[in-house]
Amino acid sequence: MNTTVDVLIIGGGGSGMSAAISAATSGATVIVLEKCPKVGGSTAMSVGSFTAANTSYQYRAGVNDSIELFVADMKVANGHYEDRENKELRRILAENAGPTVEWLSSIGVQFLGPTPEPPYEKPRMHNVLPNSSAYASALLRECRKRGVDVRTSTRVEGLLRNAAGEIIGARANGTDFFARRGVILATGDYSASPEMKAEFVGEAAAKVPPVNPNNTGDGFKLGTDVGGVMIQMDRLYEGLRFAPSNRPDPIKILPSHPLLSKAMRLIVERLPKKLLAYVIRGALTSWVGPNNTMYQAGAILVGHSGERIANEDSDKLMARAAAADELNTAFMVFDDRVARKFSAWPNPVSTFPGVAYAYVDDYKRYRPDVYHKAETIEDLATSMGVAPSVLRSTIQEWNSDVANRKDSLFGRQHLGDGINEAPFYALGPMNAYVTLADGGLAVDTQLRVTKDDGEAIPGLWAAGSTGQGGLQLLNHGLHIGWAMVSGRLAGRNVAHAPNRTDLEAVDGVRVN
Ligand SMILES: Cc1cc2nc3c(=O)[nH]c(=O)nc-3n(C[C@H](O)[C@H](O)[C@H](O)COP(=O)(O)OP(=O)(O)OC[C@H]3O[C@@H](n4cnc5c(N)ncnc54)[C@H](O)[C@@H]3O)c2cc1C
Repeated sequence: MNTTVDVLIIGGGGSGMSAAISAATSGATVIVLEKCPKVGGSTAMSVGSFTAANTSYQYRAGVNDSIELFVADMKVANGHYEDRENKELRRILAENAGPTVEWLSSIGVQFLGPTPEPPYEKPRMHNVLPNSSAYASALLRECRKRGVDVRTSTRVEGLLRNAAGEIIGARANGTDFFARRGVILATGDYSASPEMKAEFVGEAAAKVPPVNPNNTGDGFKLGTDVGGVMIQMDRLYEGLRFAPSNRPDPIKILPSHPLLSKAMRLIVERLPKKLLAYVIRGALTSWVGPNNTMYQAGAILVGHSGERIANEDSDKLMARAAAADELNTAFMVFDDRVARKFSAWPNPVSTFPGVAYAYVDDYKRYRPDVYHKAETIEDLATSMGVAPSVLRSTIQEWNSDVANRKDSLFGRQHLGDGINEAPFYALGPMNAYVTLADGGLAVDTQLRVTKDDGEAIPGLWAAGSTGQGGLQLLNHGLHIGWAMVSGRLAGRNVAHAPNRTDLEAVDGVRVN
């Protein structure tokens, strides 16, 4: 049976649900089609940091910020990517991120912060409480309150077009959904599409598995099939992270009820800084990987065979080397000299920017499953589950390379001082992951999907990662910011688009 509404949204993550609420509050009838059994997407799997200026959180903390300072800091974070920045969209993000934090707060999302996030001059990072699933539950609750029809387990396979070439709906699970005012693509990124990763970044990157297996790039295929263009698809966030803990993570299992989040915020805001850092260290050691400054200080990366697998100067090369092996596991190995250095400020093993730091000993306490320490290399190897003789010769070869100041295997530049001083340490197993893929469909400042010539495709909008449109987003907290900001703006814009009367489909364009 066919269904007709004013606004049809494809994807029930952060951008899609924000768009839905915004369209519904503008008076439109709205359907959200979500392919998974649950809404949330990457938004609900993320760390959840949201970077914004001019918020009440900043005001309470005595931070005097401005849109101009925010834009200036984003320029600094971009470095040489500044040349390809979409400056119009950046200004839209900078101006609307603050109001969007306030809007999220008004629907029950609580934040901790703002916390500093170098190289930004002002603290702007707002960390969602108790975890990022709070976004999904608050947005879904608000969708229901506003009468939005959210349909899960409904994967869109194609867009529908009328005789005038306007996008008038989409087909999913054998049903045609028509939209009088327009359709919004909000299907996230393409980090789970091996074909797209191979095409845009390369074969080695294509083998690195995604954190979110549902990011299959459907919106990109739907958009380009009707004339949209993909831009700046060449950047993936590839890296190594500790394998998931076998102990429940207290932060992740906390329910995201608004009252609990509010109580948490009130408690957390009153905690002494040291205690707060202690609480967050537990969460930290549960999902991150070690800072690459540890390699610069002398650590090496070995695979499950016990051999070095990559040039440790590059996160990307390390991730690809680990993923090239079917077990996708790697360990960081170092000696007591490095362990001593990474036992106190300013040298944490891992950080949660501006809030907390985890040192070598924190891993012993919070992640004994990825922490190995031994008096001999052989005992260390046994603890890691790798062949002692192989690890022994790997370290001998490495020490001899360090003595000759030349990495004979991979040409690493930062060599450190070798692995000589007992006790010896390893952190791992770690697995390679792609956290997210940058790029996006080209969009104009109203979030309409545009063609090669810059002309908007009638009836089609995009938001979040699908509508990234050349934005760089090169610092923490900007992707979530863009998802919510672009969703809200796209939802409002579509709700105010002209009401089409020709809802007769002449063709349906399929995603495979
Ligand atoms: C581990 C991790 C940590 C992160 N941490 C942060 C952070 O702290 N701060 C930050 O700013 N960013 C972070 N990010 C990135 C950020 O989460 C995403 O960029 C952002 O949430 C994307 O929002 P979105 O709405 O575009 O996509 P999503 O939230 O992924 O939503 C897309 C939705 O579309 C659905 N969908 C896809 N195809 C179809 C189809 N054909 N039909 C119907 N539905 C479909 C998906 O199932 C999904 O629910 C992180 C990402 C990860 C994975």
